[in-house]
Amino acid sequence: MKESPIHVIDSDVLIIGSGIAGLRAALEVTRKGKRPLLISKSVTGKSNNTTRSGGAFTCSTPQWSPDNHLRETLEAGRMLNDRSLVERLVTRAPSLIQEFVDMGMFATQRKTGVSFRRSTLLGGPEITSTLTRKCLEAGIQTMERILVTDLIVSDGRCHGALGFDKRTGEVYGFHSGAILLATGGAGAIYSQHDNVPGAVGDGYVLAMRAGLELIDMEFVQFYPLVFSGSRNRSMILPAVFADIGIIRNRFGEDLKMKYNLHERPIAIMSRDRLSQAFFKEIAAGNGVNGAMLLDMRGSEERLIDLGGLTTESRELFRRKFSYDSKPIMITPASHFTMGGIPIDLFGRTALGGLFAAGEVAGGIHGANRMGGNALSEGLVFGVIGARSAVEYADSESRSADFQDLCRMAAEKRVTPLGGESQTSSNVPLLMRELRDILWKRIGIVRNELSLKEGLEKIDDILERLSTQRSVISGDLYRIMECISAALTSRAVAISALERTESRGAHFRDDFPEENDQWLKHVHVKMVGEVPRVSRIIPVPDVEE
Ligand SMILES: Cc1cc2nc3c(=O)[nH]c(=O)nc-3n(C[C@H](O)[C@H](O)[C@H](O)COP(=O)(O)OP(=O)(O)OC[C@H]3O[C@@H](n4cnc5c(N)ncnc54)[C@H](O)[C@@H]3O)c2cc1C
Repeated sequence: MKESPIHVIDSDVLIIGSGIAGLRAALEVTRKGKRPLLISKSVTGKSNNTTRSGGAFTCSTPQWSPDNHLRETLEAGRMLNDRSLVERLVTRAPSLIQEFVDMGMFATQRKTGVSFRRSTLLGGPEITSTLTRKCLEAGIQTMERILVTDLIVSDGRCHGALGFDKRTGEVYGFHSGAILLATGGAGAIYSQHDNVPGAVGDGYVLAMRAGLELIDMEFVQFYPLVFSGSRNRSMILPAVFADIGIIRNRFGEDLKMKYNLHERPIAIMSRDRLSQAFFKEIAAGNGVNGAMLLDMRGSEERLIDLGGLTTESRELFRRKFSYDSKPIMITPASHFTMGGIPIDLFGRTALGGLFAAGEVAGGIHGANRMGGNALSEGLVFGVIGARSAVEYADSESRSADFQDLCRMAAEKRVTPLGGESQTSSNVPLLMRELRDILWKRIGIVRNELSLKEGLEKIDDILERLSTQRSVISGDLYRIMECISAALTSRAVAISALERTESRGAHFRDDFPEENDQWLKHVHVKMVGEVPRVSRIIPVPDVEE
């Protein structure tokens, strides 16, 4: 891509990302009487993980108190959660979820919360389409297919962002009173994943390049029940299927018995152990085409008895997977990133003017996430971050030399990669290689050797990426996404290597036990061009 003029666009609050956190935040900014600008690298409200989600929100219900919600969330996070953030989550979630009901969304009560799912398998599309419609009705300005490459920082605060249009290559400087990052997670850095392909951790890299630390990046959640057939690849199955069906390897062994998995719902309560069991079986060659077999034949009555699925959903699953006539092929897949940018109770990051919400933020889930807490988190901290961003934008002055700052950022990041010397034709191959390394060496089961080997290979890929050039904006976009994926992968690998224990979703077979000495957070930050471990900080003592 050639050097091009930078178009500067002004707003009160810039929101990067249009999943649940970004969409809800944009609405909140308008409710406070300010002008948000909502930008995303996908189409607004589409191709994000919110759209892929099942639509289950965890919150207190008449039968399940905020204390239950707090306790279970801390238990899942193995006490690494930031307790004050969790307290905020459990107190604020119910009223914000009620707003969805008031918007006319179809809600089903669950014991531990609410599901917004009608006759489809997923509730996500309905959530994002309703929120997107509300944003359009409110006249919110949106821009789509814009890849943000840098946050613009000077004098210790964030003034906006730099990005370019994937289709035209035009470069934009987004000047704003405050910035909210809602860029989601990085599940798609693994070869087996159920995320949208663009979920490669751009937001983590933007934050690290702006000088911020990330925490808890070793904690990646894997979901055990992902359909591995050629059609519907990466479609997740409801947790109840694992309780009702028999899960076997190719020798017919019953894996729930073999691995002593007795808790129910197994895919919620023993999500990690089930994923680890599958990984071990597949690695040992006990899979069928690299998958386990879930046999649901003859279990229709139990499926009805246990509830949780509407008649329409059951019918849809039957049509898609023929589960009543043959076993379903399942594998675990990377699903959610627990780590991220530390935020405080007001959604503030350590950088003035920069706020974060949703999966990109870290600290709430600790070592593992309780099912249904991600959407609740996006809502609660989307609203909190938006309110704080509005206050900040009101109180602080704007940078006078924004255009110059953008030009310098573009010269550093966008223009050099746009040189004409080489093509980027092998970037998709590099991305595939990276994902494969992550899956095999930095995945569900890790150890010192696998992590060191993985790290070496990631560094080699980063080296090879540094020579990639393209004049075509679409290619440049792919190079940048691959760099984000590789840098995020490095942050995961070095954090996992540092943590010499197993906790939550992080399982090391050379340190298989949880160790109280490790009630600590691993922090990473960018040193030069790569992430390195910066600090290891004990979890503060909290009075019950
Ligand atoms: C299959 C599946 C099912 C799930 N089911 C549930 C569930 O039922 N309940 C639950 O609580 N959680 C669920 N989750 C998790 C939950 O869906 C996500 O954690 C949540 O939706 C994340 O929302 P978000 O707003 O933070 O990010 P996302 O919804 O992922 O949105 C990220 C946005 O950032 C944009 N973006 C990223 N990088 C850039 C960049 N560089 N420049 C510009 N824009 C950028 C993207 O285009 C996108 O618009 C599920 C996840 C998956 C994958």
